[in-house]
Amino acid sequence: MAKQHAYRDLKLCTKDCLCLFVCPTGATNTETGQIDFEKCIGCGACANACPSHAITLVPNKMPPQQKKKDTVVKELFVIANQKIEEIKVLKYLLKNTTQESEKRLYKALIHSNKVVIEDLMRESGYMLPQSKISNDFLQSLTKGEMKEVANQLLEKIEIND
Ligand code: SF4
Ligand code: SF4
Repeated sequence: MAKQHAYRDLKLCTKDCLCLFVCPTGATNTETGQIDFEKCIGCGACANACPSHAITLVPNKMPPQQKKKDTVVKELFVIANQKIEEIKVLKYLLKNTTQESEKRLYKALIHSNKVVIEDLMRESGYMLPQSKISNDFLQSLTKGEMKEVANQLLEKIEIND
């Protein structure tokens, strides 16, 4: 089995179809636009050919998550909480302004803060799908309303640590 597979970012794809010509297995030619995981042998020809850099090669097995010290996780949460408070203020400002330029600015800052929080959570070990902590979380969902989705994800995601 290939060690890596190609992934196409549909937002970047300009549909010039070079990847269709170079792919030796036909994996790039699908109705959904997603590369066929089963057919892809990870040769990388499509990624090299794509003028829009829309294709990335993704390793099948992600490296194990590095353990963070409790003190580091604690500090990451402190920063995340500060960002949450900033978002609350920005939402208040957004609600109370009539200026279009200010609205755009506050929306952009809210989005930026959310991205930072997401990164902090990932750094803290909460969002890597292959990590034990995510696996435990999915396991906890298998008894409730989300059990079908949780079981499907558990089947697909190989736990790494
Ligand atoms: S070569 Fe790149 S831009 Fe062209 S169809 Fe393939 S993925 Fe899309
Ligand atoms: S990596 Fe190779 S086999 Fe896989 S989709 Fe790209 S060209 Fe086809």
